[in-house]
Amino acid sequence: MQTTADITIIGAGVIGLAVAAEVANEKRQVYVLERNATWGQETSSRHSGVIHAGIYYPINSLKARLCVSGNRILYRLCQQNNIGCSKLGKLIVATTAKEVEELETLIQRGNSNGALGLEMLSRKALKQLEPNVEGMAAIFSAETGIIDSHALMSYFAAKAKSNQAQIVYRTRVVGIEKIKDGYQVEVVDSEGGFSFFTRVLINCAGLSCDKIAGLAGINIDDAGYRLHYCKGEYFSLSNAKRGLVSHLIFPVPPPRVTGAGIHVVMDLDGRLRLGPSIDYVDVIDYSVTDKHKQLFYDATKRFLPFIEIDDLQPEMAGIRPKLQGPDESIKDFVIKGEGDKGLLGFINLVGIESPGLTAAPAIARYVGSLVAELL
Ligand SMILES: Cc1cc2nc3c(=O)[nH]c(=O)nc-3n(C[C@H](O)[C@H](O)[C@H](O)COP(=O)(O)OP(=O)(O)OC[C@H]3O[C@@H](n4cnc5c(N)ncnc54)[C@H](O)[C@@H]3O)c2cc1C
Repeated sequence: MQTTADITIIGAGVIGLAVAAEVANEKRQVYVLERNATWGQETSSRHSGVIHAGIYYPINSLKARLCVSGNRILYRLCQQNNIGCSKLGKLIVATTAKEVEELETLIQRGNSNGALGLEMLSRKALKQLEPNVEGMAAIFSAETGIIDSHALMSYFAAKAKSNQAQIVYRTRVVGIEKIKDGYQVEVVDSEGGFSFFTRVLINCAGLSCDKIAGLAGINIDDAGYRLHYCKGEYFSLSNAKRGLVSHLIFPVPPPRVTGAGIHVVMDLDGRLRLGPSIDYVDVIDYSVTDKHKQLFYDATKRFLPFIEIDDLQPEMAGIRPKLQGPDESIKDFVIKGEGDKGLLGFINLVGIESPGLTAAPAIARYVGSLVAELL
């Protein structure tokens, strides 16, 4: 690495890579610093892999706007660059009269957000589309799909590198000091450590983004940046149940939207999984045991009557970097330049939970516009 950079991005998850692909060009010295041995080892490889349409999020929120535009950009990117994806469509299934009412609110919100292809289905229409699913009514979302997130990250990494960005692995940011016209960044790597100067610093550190903001001198409690870790487990469904549904099947989300509810996700090869659950935790631990098997079974049996408890096997888990604490209402993404805190040139991305994967290319463009005001 050289001793000066124009732009330094902390974190090589899908967000850091998308941002690097967006802001790198031959006139700029751009670095991406990643503490792991390669990209995409944390939240960006521990999710449902769903391209969301933008139904759930508050109107005009960054989550809504960046999800809706990310959805459109992603399908185009996939088509143009041979990235695996499938516009399977999704059903949000109501199983009680109260949930049927909720569907009305959801479809109105989705339409206001600009989510395309939403349609209310009667019980009969639901049965025609998915004979093995039980429900009183449903929303059909034609623009929801699934994506090979590994291929997407590989595309962003290759694009960033072809635009002269360098991705530096096994390199952990441990110190940030504001100095004239930029930042002195201290890192630890396999050979010890060093520090260098960067004009612009972009925090895409996922589960550590609050700590990075703190290193730069921001009081993360005053700023509202302290993260809550929220674990989501997945159980795989027996291969015998493959083919029994052909869309993504979601429940009506619980009132305070902490997540979309335990749903059926399908991989591009047709394998079915259930998840993710919602469990606020203090430590990052990705292990999954049988402990929550009954909870998964109970949560899905009412709309997926073909599931037997023995079909479920613990699979994997991801951890959401949430700004929303337990029993709090939904919080938006924070994506902002911190000039108002005396930190001109420092751009924070905090709380990039779902729909972060869907929104990644739109987030990158948004960050690109913040960078354009600085360089
Ligand atoms: C259970 C679950 C399900 C989800 N499902 C969906 C979905 O279906 N659709 C959707 O759109 N979104 C979904 N998401 C959200 C999506 O996965 C995330 O928004 C996205 O992956 C966040 O990417 P990121 O790059 O911000 O974070 P990460 O992938 O965590 O990357 C951050 C990187 O920063 C690095 N880093 C941290 N600190 C330092 C440091 N000090 N020095 C150097 N490097 C550092 C880390 O090593 C890491 O590689 C889901 C998330 C979860 C948890």
